[in-house]
Amino acid sequence: MSVWIEHCQGRPTLLVVDDQPINIRILNELFRADCDMHMATCGEQAIAISQSLQPDLILLDIMMEGMDGLEVCRRLKSDPATAAIPIIFITAKDAANDEALGLELGAVDYICKPLNPAIVRARVKTHLTLKMQGDYLKQLASLDGLTGIANRRAFDLRLAEAWSHACREGETLSLLMIDIDYFKAFNDHFGHLEGDQCLRRVAGILADSVNRPYDTVARFGGEEFACILPDTDAPGALKLAQRIQHNIKQLAIVHPASDVSEVLTLSIGIASLKPTIGGNDTQLITLADAALYQAKSDGRNRVYSQTT
Ligand code: GH3
Ligand code: MG
Ligand code: MG
Repeated sequence: MSVWIEHCQGRPTLLVVDDQPINIRILNELFRADCDMHMATCGEQAIAISQSLQPDLILLDIMMEGMDGLEVCRRLKSDPATAAIPIIFITAKDAANDEALGLELGAVDYICKPLNPAIVRARVKTHLTLKMQGDYLKQLASLDGLTGIANRRAFDLRLAEAWSHACREGETLSLLMIDIDYFKAFNDHFGHLEGDQCLRRVAGILADSVNRPYDTVARFGGEEFACILPDTDAPGALKLAQRIQHNIKQLAIVHPASDVSEVLTLSIGIASLKPTIGGNDTQLITLADAALYQAKSDGRNRVYSQTT
């Protein structure tokens, strides 16, 4: 199916939910060549797998022992973690009012048994295509077009998330604000295309320098970058900033127009704090900005830290 679906990275993941093994077998046969298949034989199992696996599409039976498919759909749609997963009911309940109810609950389609394999395949393909295209657009909307790292929009969302998380867990949250030194002069010297290439290389170094999965490296704007570092205290953030400085120095991008060095350098402002209820994530940006300003005014090519 990956050849069916434009922009599909890897195989789609399909969850089949049915309490009759024979029905699971039929659907498994129909899709196993094209999709990664997962099965559940009751409602509780379907919900647990949906939460952990985040399938691209769920094929859901209605009449099952215990929790029925309608209730499974209701619960998946009311949980933000699973609400966006498309659901197709596959059921022997063929009355129009059953179909209306299923669609009202948020299913994207409703297919009646006995199954016509060609119709089931065509409908599943349509909904998987829509899902994959939606995922692709969502991903594009969060990436910076020039450098391929998170853009400002994604930065704002992730900082707000990291702030709430740190607040709940009582953890320290750190932020690095990173600004290229004398970048206007770099552009003036080499031209904007070379400047763009330089921004890509700096973004690559930043992305390679962080190693925790929850860290976010973003282009904040222009020649300014930011790293959001959840559960990281001031000494930890300082270590990362020094690693970035070291890696940029190793990269040795020639910068004849710089007043501080013969190669491209960065100034970095660090803010670290434990968020409190009633506070706001802009506090962290303000603090990191103040540290960055200090680093600039004290000569550039250095790291300064601010804590509360
Ligand atoms: P400082 O050391 O004080 O940070 O000086 P600076 O020249 O780096 O800072 P300034 O804010 O004066 O200039 C930033 C420059 O970054 C101006 C602009 O030409 C350049 N810039 C911003 N976005 C882009 C971009 O997308 N591509 C290129 N090539 N240059 C950019
Ligand atoms: Mg700047
Ligand atoms: Mg600059």
